[in-house]
Amino acid sequence: MRLDPEMRLGILEKIGVYSERFSIPEPRVLLTTREVLEMPKEATAGRRTSAYKYYGVSYLRHNAVFINVRKIPDEKELEKTIVHELIHMRFQYLGHGRRFNRLVRRGLRGGGFAPYKRRTAPAAI
Ligand SMILES: [Zn+2]
Repeated sequence: MRLDPEMRLGILEKIGVYSERFSIPEPRVLLTTREVLEMPKEATAGRRTSAYKYYGVSYLRHNAVFINVRKIPDEKELEKTIVHELIHMRFQYLGHGRRFNRLVRRGLRGGGFAPYKRRTAPAAI
């Protein structure tokens, strides 16, 4: 799809809405491979020059997502990509798989998620 200012704004709005629903801080949003390459090298290590191949990439440790608008064919895939990447941000301990896909579907249906709570260390006994 074409990345014009209207598209850029629309994506930022969607990311704002889903971030709130998923109880995550709004990530930094990268919309071109150029923006990925402009990030500090250590932030995008491993998925830097290969980012163009994917619809989206999340850079968890730097709270950034790349949405590859030019590669995404339509509005439906765009929505799926945004939700997919934000599910990575909310469920950082989860890899791809059935559980992950279920969460993506739930997010796409408008579902929300409580904030992630790190388990507290067990009390000494
Ligand atoms: Zn993924």
